[in-house]
Amino acid sequence: MPARFPDFRLGNVLATSFTGTLSERHGDAVERMPTPQRLVDWLAVSGLAVDSCTTAQLELARDLRESIHAAATAAAIQDALPAAAVQVINDRSAQGRAAAILTPEGKRQWRLSSASRVEDALSVIAADAISIIAGERDGKLALCASPTCQAAFFDTSQSRTRKWCDMNTCGNRQKKARYNANHPKTPSPTN
Ligand SMILES: [Zn+2]
Repeated sequence: MPARFPDFRLGNVLATSFTGTLSERHGDAVERMPTPQRLVDWLAVSGLAVDSCTTAQLELARDLRESIHAAATAAAIQDALPAAAVQVINDRSAQGRAAAILTPEGKRQWRLSSASRVEDALSVIAADAISIIAGERDGKLALCASPTCQAAFFDTSQSRTRKWCDMNTCGNRQKKARYNANHPKTPSPTN
């Protein structure tokens, strides 16, 4: 029987969608990329399909993920960027050889140098993180208001006042908690 792994929570921004593969960092953390195959699966649904992934490459990916999380968090609270995290992001960005390809339909696709180059895929993610941390894109880095989450997310709302991370689950959970507080369960009628 195939093992069941936690679902991915995909957002619209590649880099923060990637950091979302570890959720509830300040609560009961959920690792959504527990095996090399799950990294392959995540890359496939994110437009960066590779053939295979080794344990060492999964380690590289997780190291990049936590480095993006650390740097994006610092950027969100306008703190100095952690040097070690910046180094990892830059190393991963520099190591890949992915090419942006324009399709006949006018869409951008990524072409990796060979099908098993996880490093190429990581370089695309690192470059995406660099563009949002550097403030090159229309939006603002912010931290999720859920105390157990605090994920860095990229707020592209008009007012830049979004409170919850990309995945909606944090906001929904909060709403449900508020609803339950306001609507205490009525005792079931006794016959
Ligand atoms: Zn959240």
